[in-house]
Amino acid sequence: MADEQKGQSNQSEGKGLREQFWDPIAGFGVTFRTMFKKVVTEQYPFEKMPTAPRFHGRHQLNRWPDGLEKCIGCELCAWACPADAIYVEGASNTDGPDGERFSPGERYGRVYQINYLRCILCGLCIEACPTRALTMTNEYELADNNRADLIYEKSDLLAPLLPGMEQPPHPMLLGDDEGAYYRGDYMDVSSHLLEPEAHEGSGH
Ligand code: SF4
Ligand code: SF4
Repeated sequence: MADEQKGQSNQSEGKGLREQFWDPIAGFGVTFRTMFKKVVTEQYPFEKMPTAPRFHGRHQLNRWPDGLEKCIGCELCAWACPADAIYVEGASNTDGPDGERFSPGERYGRVYQINYLRCILCGLCIEACPTRALTMTNEYELADNNRADLIYEKSDLLAPLLPGMEQPPHPMLLGDDEGAYYRGDYMDVSSHLLEPEAHEGSGH
């Protein structure tokens, strides 16, 4: 019995010594092996990696090639949003000497807000939009140090004015009639204007 106990104690001593010397070597072995592998660390924010082309980033409200807004204030995007992150208030365009037109058609989005504290960037809103006014860009830097600044207003979301565009309000400037405006018939003769979709954010 005593011999048996002695044998067990020698065995555990041997195991203890082995663990004491071998385990650190085994542990550092992982470190040494990894030292010679290709580094996968991204140096963000100093180097930004490109996203996938159809990445769902910050939204953009697009314009027609004369600068009018594509949003007609229909609120379909807000109804489609599962996170209740969009708030839209539509208003009527008016023509005439004192009229103000922000979009072709009857109505425009007078107030447009997206709350990025709620948005999960799922893209359901851009699927619901009937005019392709709303698309998503590849911009993913949506952090801030206060909550209020993460509620983006229409002015934050509108696409910038490109050459050939005028800041609304103004009448529909392109095409001979509404049909020609929407079909983009003027594109054949106005080579200085961009394709209707060329300035839109990526996404769908
Ligand atoms: S991306 Fe999704 S969560 Fe964000 S506003 Fe659109 S529908 Fe709502
Ligand atoms: S973005 Fe599209 S869906 Fe949303 S209110 Fe404007 S037109 Fe309607």
